[in-house]
Amino acid sequence: MSDLLVNSEKGHLPASQRIPAIAKPFVSERAAKTLDLVEKFVEEECIPADAVFVRQIGETTEQRFSSHPPIIEDLKAKAKRLGLWNMFLPKNHFKEGAGFSNLEYGLMAEYLGKSRTASEATNCAAPDTGNMEVLAKYGNEQQKRRWLDPLLDGKIRSAFLMTEPQVASSDATNIEMRIERDGDSYVLNGQKWWSSGAGDPRCEIYVVLGKTDPNNADKYKQQSVILVPHDTPGITINRMLSVFGYDDAPHGHGHITFKNVRVPATNMVLGEGRGFEIIQGRLGPGRIHHAMRSIGAAEKALEWFLARINDERKKPFGQLLNKHGIMLERVARSRIEIDAARLAVLNAAIKIDESNAKGALKEIAEVKVLVPEVNLTVIDRAIQAYGGAGVSQDTPLANMYALGRTMRIVDGPDEVHLVQLAKNENKRGPAHKRRLDAQKKKGEELCRKFGVSTNDVLHLNRQSGKKSKL
Ligand SMILES: Cc1cc2nc3c(=O)[nH]c(=O)nc-3n(C[C@H](O)[C@H](O)[C@H](O)COP(=O)(O)OP(=O)(O)OC[C@H]3O[C@@H](n4cnc5c(N)ncnc54)[C@H](O)[C@@H]3O)c2cc1C
Repeated sequence: MSDLLVNSEKGHLPASQRIPAIAKPFVSERAAKTLDLVEKFVEEECIPADAVFVRQIGETTEQRFSSHPPIIEDLKAKAKRLGLWNMFLPKNHFKEGAGFSNLEYGLMAEYLGKSRTASEATNCAAPDTGNMEVLAKYGNEQQKRRWLDPLLDGKIRSAFLMTEPQVASSDATNIEMRIERDGDSYVLNGQKWWSSGAGDPRCEIYVVLGKTDPNNADKYKQQSVILVPHDTPGITINRMLSVFGYDDAPHGHGHITFKNVRVPATNMVLGEGRGFEIIQGRLGPGRIHHAMRSIGAAEKALEWFLARINDERKKPFGQLLNKHGIMLERVARSRIEIDAARLAVLNAAIKIDESNAKGALKEIAEVKVLVPEVNLTVIDRAIQAYGGAGVSQDTPLANMYALGRTMRIVDGPDEVHLVQLAKNENKRGPAHKRRLDAQKKKGEELCRKFGVSTNDVLHLNRQSGKKSKL
């Protein structure tokens, strides 16, 4: 089976030996070894198992959202035996994880992104990862034992409920879900959608953002995060949403109504009014995880692309596709763009490790925008090379495109990051203007000092004996 891994004519260069030079000094020996194990596990176990997973889900909607494909438990047992478990919890902030840095896990996440089953098999799947970080970072002891422990153990799953259908949710201050104190309880009313993971029969806990103090003058103190068990009376899953027709079962994306949903007051996380702070803390590292998985998806698309242009059976106009220059140019561009995007993500991960998600806001925003674009471009090129097969169920590319497209929207759409980046960049404008003016002025002073005219290029060309065309 291990010949499956071969990634060049000369044999196999393991993942640890392909770590970009810029990242190598930050990767421990243990992480490098684990990275090779992750690569082997994904290529030899998870990608082949993906075929079983999609068939074990079943056909009808009812089957698809009540099934738990047994292959997942097989993979989880193997991953645990190999020590490939909870690699996402960064070592400088949490004692509960496998003890890797964001950079080290980022390198591993690339491989997880190549398979449908790999993230869940290693207990590194969203939204559980972000929810576990919330519980580990902000939860009290009781909340940790009740919810974090079974999540860390892969016994249950979770969902994160922020987005609402009736408001523009990319601005979280718009959220309307009401959370009202009533004696020893809180009562929730409102609706949520795009609640990813809510379809999984093992999803037991919802991490919910709502408003406890909608009239607070500080609009960032109105929100709170509260834990709601999925089977609390008053909760209705109205429907599951699809992405370009894909239902993403059994995980799914729920549209959920809350009507007088009552939970104990002890389910409040960190305290009333701390919701904004919690969701900000939750999203930073998660964006890096998504980005590195997307790099893995782009690599996988390029592999499929290369396989197609070398397929001896299919020669349009008498030639292998790799003899058509336009295809080779697309291969080269894909290689350049993936490698550049990977460096940007690893740089953001290093920045998070050196400070925290807040300290790496610019770098995270850069990759949040850049990586989905690169991923979609590469997948699109691969789809094109396959012709009709590329958009069908006979390659994974169409499904990958659908998933990749959502990355321009989830965890904040492109525009939010672009606006934030542009505003910060623009702050440097006045300083640049002053420096450029000062340089011009000094240049003119130097010209006068050396007795040369302050006139421009026309004059300089004459001085060097060239005829000006002007
Ligand atoms: C597959 C998938 C999974 C998801 N999973 C979850 C989940 O688990 N939990 C959860 O709570 N949510 C989830 N979401 C929701 C997602 O986070 C939101 O869709 C996203 O934050 C955008 O919010 P919105 O849909 O309300 O769009 P809106 O806020 O209405 O924005 C619509 C559009 O307006 C534009 N826009 C927004 N802000 C600006 C700006 N500042 N400048 C210019 N234009 C702007 C953008 O083009 C944006 O796409 C998921 C979404 C998808 C597609």
